[in-house]
Amino acid sequence: MRLLERLGVTPSIVPPSQPGPPPLTTAQVYGRSPVGYSADLGRILALPRRDLAASYTAADVEALEAALRSPSPQCNCASMSPPRPCPLRLRRVQAQALLEASRVGGLLGPIGTGHGKELTTLLMPMVMPGCRVAVLFIPASLLPQFESEWGYYGAHWKLPNLAGGRWFRVGLPVLHVVTYNKLSSQEATDLLERIRPDLVILNEAHNLKDPKASRTGRFLRYFEKHPRTRLVALSGTFASKSIKDYAHLSRLALGEGSPLPLAHHVVEEWGTALDPGKVVALPGALERLCEPGEHVREGFQRRRNATSGVVATEESALDKPLIIRERKVGPVPAQLFALIELAHAGERPDGEQFQEQLQAVACARQLSAGFYHRWRYPRGEPHELIEQWFARRKAWNKEVWEELKGKRREHLDSPGLLTKAALRAHMSPPYEGDKPVWHAATWPEWTEIHAAVQPEPQAVWVSDFLVKDAAEWARSRVGIVWVEYPELGERIAKEAGVPFYGGGTVASEDILRETGRRSIVASIKAHATGKNLQQFSRNLVVTPPSDGAAWEQLLARTHRPGQQAQVVEVEVCLHSQDYAAAFGTALERARFIQQTDGQSQKILMARSDQPPIDCAG
Ligand SMILES: [Zn+2]
Repeated sequence: MRLLERLGVTPSIVPPSQPGPPPLTTAQVYGRSPVGYSADLGRILALPRRDLAASYTAADVEALEAALRSPSPQCNCASMSPPRPCPLRLRRVQAQALLEASRVGGLLGPIGTGHGKELTTLLMPMVMPGCRVAVLFIPASLLPQFESEWGYYGAHWKLPNLAGGRWFRVGLPVLHVVTYNKLSSQEATDLLERIRPDLVILNEAHNLKDPKASRTGRFLRYFEKHPRTRLVALSGTFASKSIKDYAHLSRLALGEGSPLPLAHHVVEEWGTALDPGKVVALPGALERLCEPGEHVREGFQRRRNATSGVVATEESALDKPLIIRERKVGPVPAQLFALIELAHAGERPDGEQFQEQLQAVACARQLSAGFYHRWRYPRGEPHELIEQWFARRKAWNKEVWEELKGKRREHLDSPGLLTKAALRAHMSPPYEGDKPVWHAATWPEWTEIHAAVQPEPQAVWVSDFLVKDAAEWARSRVGIVWVEYPELGERIAKEAGVPFYGGGTVASEDILRETGRRSIVASIKAHATGKNLQQFSRNLVVTPPSDGAAWEQLLARTHRPGQQAQVVEVEVCLHSQDYAAAFGTALERARFIQQTDGQSQKILMARSDQPPIDCAG
């Protein structure tokens, strides 16, 4: 943890065992047997290696541009606010992705932020042979700026017909643009079946990393039924915690040519030697991917990137300095440390005993910001009723959880839809429609009581030291204050007299209109992905995430092409062991991403290249 040391985080606040995983002992390392040889490994070793840089000539790229360029560009780039340069040429990686996808009939694109993934996805249906109907999935946070981006690129390039758009040009493919959130919604249970795409394009494809999530289940089900569908999957961080995060995407994009194992148990096995924080096996047979002396993650990454159908970036899109340093917050009240310690021991400040470790960790994170969450019962339900309510709720949740495992069927593939199916099963007179019913055992008891107790979440404040400190930061310079909790964001914004942007479409639109002349407070969850916020160059991360991919996204909001400042600065609050540990875990996960994905991670770049600066600027 060199950065933590350099940042002056003292051992009394960060015991050596806290930031990131402790050094592994021999017993832990050899907890599992070394990775063995498998048919999958044999297949992957036999895949031809290809040098992407030598695959396409300048003439190939020019021919592609000529075919895609709009014949009569009419743009208002100069009068946009702020003005934008005309996108007249394709970036090298954009051209490579388009050429490679059309040649291979699918694409796995580990392409970092700021390399123009958006235009690549819009042009993809135009180059994919025989494409008639395509679906592009994007994060909901990108939707507010989608229309203007479509206009910006459409003025210079030949784009497909936009489904629902006002123009239809015969002979061009139709592109449906859908958010991942929409794919999660109940009415989207058969969405892909209704659209029937022959090409699916995923921007920020890590949104489909979890095969257990409803949205991923729907996506996988469609490919099972229609295996000839082409897949183009792009993401700057395919794997934030494990190669499991994208082995299924690689399989659907490249089939037998996938550089990741196809068999689930082999993916699991490789993870034991490759995944961060839980390396329990020696590389074993995976050494065959490596040059002498090469780390197994690097050998894996080199093999992957040399595979036909894989287009990867290895350099950061911006070489401007990025400086990350600790925010020296004012004195932390000793009482707060005591409450945090108590939380780790399993107790909330008001005496409530936690049931699981997860609750304790969440509470300690909240306390580090000066408050904690609890349920309150404004209607004054009796204690026994509340206990019964929680017991039945737990039983119901468990049955839903079990029912969703492994089985993915239309109208039964999310908790909300299962609830509806259970309602139908218990209707009187009996339900006679054509939708499925579910005879859940715990439903009658739960439905009888579920409305009888109505808890409301409530934030209880114990200290405003962090609110005051962040507000002071926001007042004394212009920048973005990033927070995890809305109630914290609102308090800081109020104290500093600046706007807070939380969740929702309106906030997403409004934040893009900020000119960068005043500070703002922003929700990490709602705004740290996808948005262009390079009008700001200073950041304060009040509640540091532990996810390396989340950090990469957050840093890329301001550390991106178009940044006018000489340097992008980030200050991080590390005043509690929970925040310091989260930051340490993020560094560890970023190292994993950098080694296996080959994407240089901003959080690591800042660490190794830039000395911390002293003045607060
Ligand atoms: Zn233009």
